[in-house]
Amino acid sequence: MTDFPPPSDRPKAAPLAALRLFRPVFLAVGAIGLAIGALLLIHLGSPTASPTPAQTAETTVVLPDPDPPPALTSADFQGFQMKPPDQQAVSEPPASDRYELTLRLERGDTIEKMLADIDVPEADRKQINEALQGLLKKRQLAVGEAIALVIQTLADQPDAPRVLSLSVRPQPEREFLVTRKDDGSYSGEEKSYKVTPRIVRVEAEIAGSLQQSGVSGGAPVAAMNEFIKALSYDVDFQRELKAGQHFTVLLEQLVTSDGKVTHPGRLLAGELRLLKRTVTVIRFRPQGGAEQFYNPQGESLIRSFLRTPMDASHITSRFGMREHPILGFSAMHTGVDFGAPMGTPILAAGAGKVLMAGPNAGYGIFVKLQHTAQIGTGYGHMSRLGPGIKPGAVVRQGQVIGFVGSTGMSTGPHLHYEFYRDGHPVNPLAQKFALRAALSGKDLAQFQAQSRTYLVQLKSAPHVADTPAPVSKAAVAKAPAAPQLARGD
Ligand SMILES: [Zn+2]
Repeated sequence: MTDFPPPSDRPKAAPLAALRLFRPVFLAVGAIGLAIGALLLIHLGSPTASPTPAQTAETTVVLPDPDPPPALTSADFQGFQMKPPDQQAVSEPPASDRYELTLRLERGDTIEKMLADIDVPEADRKQINEALQGLLKKRQLAVGEAIALVIQTLADQPDAPRVLSLSVRPQPEREFLVTRKDDGSYSGEEKSYKVTPRIVRVEAEIAGSLQQSGVSGGAPVAAMNEFIKALSYDVDFQRELKAGQHFTVLLEQLVTSDGKVTHPGRLLAGELRLLKRTVTVIRFRPQGGAEQFYNPQGESLIRSFLRTPMDASHITSRFGMREHPILGFSAMHTGVDFGAPMGTPILAAGAGKVLMAGPNAGYGIFVKLQHTAQIGTGYGHMSRLGPGIKPGAVVRQGQVIGFVGSTGMSTGPHLHYEFYRDGHPVNPLAQKFALRAALSGKDLAQFQAQSRTYLVQLKSAPHVADTPAPVSKAAVAKAPAAPQLARGD
């Protein structure tokens, strides 16, 4: 592919001390600080750099943000020197050794195939599958069924992810759970929740991240994650989300006869009031299909591409001409930068094939995916690759393909995201991917009835604060830490 600069022989004598100074600062101040920091660097960097032909000439030089021209010396930008790729180990993020991953069963798919796709070792795959089949007893899982995994990456075997647990929940009252035991074997357990549902709502204002606002209003982390994911196909969080906006989530809690809440709340529906529009998501399970979220017109919210390839991020640099933060002169920025903490999982924006995975000059550790004959995506500056990500590997939408880092020519942890049409980078945020499945016939009629009920309940269900708080240990354990989103969006 011609989009990428050839490997450059840029200086490798990066002042490590400065790096070490900067990295903890970035980590500590988090997302907002990162944005301010990046701005500061841009302003500090530009005056010292000497004008170049690109700045004065009428024609614009298309320069993918990596490759530095040989004319500039490292003295021009000391203090935020780029890091040679071989120093990857320095930035290895310990915080991200465990992460949650939800994959959906595709047509003709099996659990074993799904686990093989993400490079789970064969022995583990077999055991997990056996344990699960023992629970399912010949029952078939629906196409599109969500398989929730908790994965651990071991430092010494980064390419052999370890599955800590696998959970399938075809109905709210029934969960099939396979967990890894201390001896490395897997055991299955069917959990049934003999309880009555209670519908509650959380109505809140955005203060900080959407997720935190919901959680402090009493919604479980997992439900907020689902809400954010469902919205993410439609909402540009960076541009449209503002403090003070209202949102409501409708939750189904499970309550035992003696009033104990055994499940803190499954998301049934949600509503987010933006400046100019209100976005509503409604959970529904069509006949023979898997549950997913729809808009009130009965159209599936799932699109062929994610709007942003990360759950928690904010845009720090847009597509187009800009002052280059390191080079100091005006150049074409061929992608969008998302600021996110070191180690944040990066998701495949769509299903496809890995074309390139590994160090790529100024892009640092880089992944390129091919989705269709025309469309591809690229992801730069990773701290490391996701499990199983190598050229030729098939990826699913939402699969973890790597982790946020600052390799290559980068001023701090962020993802440089590119979108290609016919090999040329285009603005990822300007792409529209309508094509959605819509409900019809019996499913649509049933959906409309359910949707009417939910829309009324979004306004009238008792507020979660007026009901006993969920304190069950089982419930807490059910929603394993989702630290990626908790870091703010
Ligand atoms: Zn960039």
